[in-house]
Amino acid sequence: MTPHVDPDPRTGAAVKAADRAHVFHSWSAQGLIDPLAVAGAEGSYFWDYDGNRYLDFTSGLVFTNIGYQHPKVVAAIQEQAGKLATFAPAFAVEARSEAARLIAERTPGDLDKIFFTNGGAEAVENAVRLARLHTGRHKVMSAYRSYHGATAQAINLTGDPRRWASDTGSAGVVRFWAPFLYRSAFYSTTEAEECARALTHLEDTIAFEGPGTIAAIILETVPGTAGIMTPPPGYLAGVREICDRYGIVLVLDEVMSGFGRTGAWFAADLYGVTPDLMTFAKGVNSGYVPLGGVAISAEIAATFDKRPFPGGLTYSGHPLACAAAVATINVMEDEGIVDQAAHIGSTVLEPGLRDLAARHPSVGEVRGTGVFWALELVKSQETREPLVPYNASGADASPMAAFGAACKKNGVWPFINMNRTHVVPPCNITEAEAKEGLAVLDEALSVADEYTV
Ligand code: PMP
Repeated sequence: MTPHVDPDPRTGAAVKAADRAHVFHSWSAQGLIDPLAVAGAEGSYFWDYDGNRYLDFTSGLVFTNIGYQHPKVVAAIQEQAGKLATFAPAFAVEARSEAARLIAERTPGDLDKIFFTNGGAEAVENAVRLARLHTGRHKVMSAYRSYHGATAQAINLTGDPRRWASDTGSAGVVRFWAPFLYRSAFYSTTEAEECARALTHLEDTIAFEGPGTIAAIILETVPGTAGIMTPPPGYLAGVREICDRYGIVLVLDEVMSGFGRTGAWFAADLYGVTPDLMTFAKGVNSGYVPLGGVAISAEIAATFDKRPFPGGLTYSGHPLACAAAVATINVMEDEGIVDQAAHIGSTVLEPGLRDLAARHPSVGEVRGTGVFWALELVKSQETREPLVPYNASGADASPMAAFGAACKKNGVWPFINMNRTHVVPPCNITEAEAKEGLAVLDEALSVADEYTV
């Protein structure tokens, strides 16, 4: 693969110097970071100005579902820029209408109306607003071990420890434990037990909160950032039933799991569940231009037929972002990318990762589906003590940092979150690339093994 620019360390140094002087990075201690200066990217790879090339096992932040610089999507953005680079949301614009049509055709059930946003957190904010106005109720329930975004409401709904510093303890958020057998909140020993207990716990929580006060339950169909915990069979169907029983809106957050990641268009398809609202972003256009949204059921959409929906964004359904979505969805169809994700998952990633787990004492559990996998790294397989503590930083985090450095040294960019590494490459990663990445993980896990007891 030929880089688009001649790697030149002097340019890289200038890019880095300006970054360090003026860019305030997200989720970072500004004085402790050393961001890589990226010179270019193509397909499943990116490279720096020193000529180092990396296989991207992160898909950016799990968004480049069709890889970097797909020529058809790049061309569609260029064409749209030449035709109509921007237009306000209150007009019917070809790229926007077509993106909405293509998305609605693929979302489950009657989720046929699309409210566009610029990303995932805004989609969550607006899903909650829709649910509250539709039901006339105010409380929203969300799971511990979840991530829903970093804006005010979305971070309060988030259950992972990154919430702690920003949580305003917003009135009306009720958290519950979703199923996770490996670290069960219910002391379960089987998937069936975990499923039944998690559903009872959810229903008990609703009973004591007052069913008539709860507008929505929001769940990631497969929780992503918090650890790719594929739900046990029957759980989501059970939540759907509970929501129906109490008139609660079910919001499935598919910002990370949507658009091919799980080997289906949406994870909801895998579990045969149709939510009332579904949030999406990231993979909808592979992140080439910021875009997200909420897919809305016919019943909820009807609430706002004669009564205005009080919410909107200046750049809602931006034509460049929508043109990128139209091109991305067409590329995914034409190139069979959703099936490719399922195929690579079942024939390469799952067997490859299970083989690594069998050979490395630092791997406690392998979970996932499609191109959406997590390795839970532990000090001891017996005690399941995480390899690093929750929210570890500095020296506490060094075992994971050593693992990460070993991946990078051998040309794989890993996704690391607390004691886990997530294997989340583009949905169209080739078999050879996936195997190349697994071989590097194998070596890097030997480094993690040194920290086991
Ligand atoms: N929901 C989920 C499930 C996510 O994974 C994310 C982002 N990782 C968000 C919401 C927030 O999306 P954004 O960063 O685009 O605001």
